[in-house]
Amino acid sequence: MTGAHDTVPQIFTSSIVHTLADDGVPAFATLGERIVATGQVSRLREMFPGAAVHDFGERALVPGFNDAHQHPTVMAEQLLDVDLSPELVGTRDELLARLRERAESTPAGDWVQGSRYDHTKSTGGVVLTRDDLDRACPDHPVFVRQIGMHWGVLNSVGLRACGLTEDSADPVGGELGRDGSGRLTGAVYERVVFELVDEVIPARGLDERLRGLDRYQRMMHAAGITSVGDALVWPRGLRLLQEAYARGRLSLRVNALLAYPAVEQLEALGLRTGLGDARLRIGGVKAFVDGAIAGGTCLLEEPYEDGCQHGIQAMPTDELMAFVRRVHDAGGTVCVHANGDRAIRLLLDAVEAAQDANPRPGARHRIEHCSIVDPEILKRIAALGMVAVPFGSYVSFHGEKLPGYYGLDRVARMFPHRDLLDAGVAVAGSSDFPCGPYEVLRALRSCVTRRAADGTELGPNQRISPAEALALYTTGSAYAAGEESYKGRLAPGMLADFVVLDRDPLDTPGDELTDITIEQTWVGGERVWSRDE
Ligand SMILES: [Zn+2]
Repeated sequence: MTGAHDTVPQIFTSSIVHTLADDGVPAFATLGERIVATGQVSRLREMFPGAAVHDFGERALVPGFNDAHQHPTVMAEQLLDVDLSPELVGTRDELLARLRERAESTPAGDWVQGSRYDHTKSTGGVVLTRDDLDRACPDHPVFVRQIGMHWGVLNSVGLRACGLTEDSADPVGGELGRDGSGRLTGAVYERVVFELVDEVIPARGLDERLRGLDRYQRMMHAAGITSVGDALVWPRGLRLLQEAYARGRLSLRVNALLAYPAVEQLEALGLRTGLGDARLRIGGVKAFVDGAIAGGTCLLEEPYEDGCQHGIQAMPTDELMAFVRRVHDAGGTVCVHANGDRAIRLLLDAVEAAQDANPRPGARHRIEHCSIVDPEILKRIAALGMVAVPFGSYVSFHGEKLPGYYGLDRVARMFPHRDLLDAGVAVAGSSDFPCGPYEVLRALRSCVTRRAADGTELGPNQRISPAEALALYTTGSAYAAGEESYKGRLAPGMLADFVVLDRDPLDTPGDELTDITIEQTWVGGERVWSRDE
């Protein structure tokens, strides 16, 4: 990541520049990774004779998009799996054929892994079982990961490889799927996935995973993304990121949220949130209170629309209280997945208790997703100075499923961008990719229009303006990571991370935001992606 741009100043100008700092700035100059001055091109030329000038004409320059919560290290590996995403696979037979094809080129006994399986779309509404997988791949252990990543399906060889038998009991925070007769279906949930299956499946070689990461970074840059929060970094993921960085191959900036067992290392090594640099840093510790919005497993105060269930609590309350307290006391940031209103209340209880016992006024503990709120929750989040990291595109992406699970009244309190901003809460932009689409423009459209894919409006009271939506994915995500002093705006001292768009996103009707073309993406004064390449 070094080159001539380290010593040669550059000037960037265009007829539309949204700095998210000062209005009416027509150009900025950079030296190395940073912006060093803003102003008229003529003045910048005088200040920096010999500077290379990049004039983007009628296009729009905005700060690089920052997706506060997604899963790059997981995806670097999933890009090497059989892709079972609903865009590619629509029936069970198609899905099984893809797995069978991979098995044919895989030595017997080696794992065959599929990912991005969506049980509502990839198999036409039929949930996969071990028997299906056994038919397609009798000789290989198989694991098919559901797109939300909180559950998946093993075949019989895979169950055996994980030591799971008909006599196995459900572990704390996890579950084994069983049919009416009590036989294992192959489905495994939550901690069975994170703490058993992921441990048993051998990691791929480093070179292969680096190739997956390269591909992933290119996908992100093509969408204008320059920074991400990696919202569940396991030791092997952290090693991958460090290796990519050491080899000059980490073009994305990564705020790593370590997976919850890292609380031990945090204490043992005295690690604090913020260790690292502007390219790769430790941003906090991630844990889960409940399940998924689209899976209908988030933890609710009022039951689901079908009347009987309140959802899943993925971490027992006493364990959550202890986890938050330990991370808080160690100087870390807790980044806790809490979708449902009851889950958010449990988290707020834990953070209030930690702050009461050991006040850390500047701690920016985070609520990952923060999907369902009410006025009392909003007040408590604001009082604690916590940061909300809601899904940007779920109204558009999952819209049609939501009223069936939650009812229209509750949908009006979901992905509550308007309510959070009005309550004075800091709000980041996030996709949770691969659980949702990573394209930021799609999220902007969803937040601005609150329309599902079929055009239905869902909770239009939560609409925000295009400028507010852009701020989520720039200044908002930078603040969520504690990086607002050098990211999210185009101003002196800030990183020269920006995107070139073919038109002004703040002067584009909401429904047309996804028609905007990403022309170029720059990280630290270096072009990392161009549409023309
Ligand atoms: Zn996530």
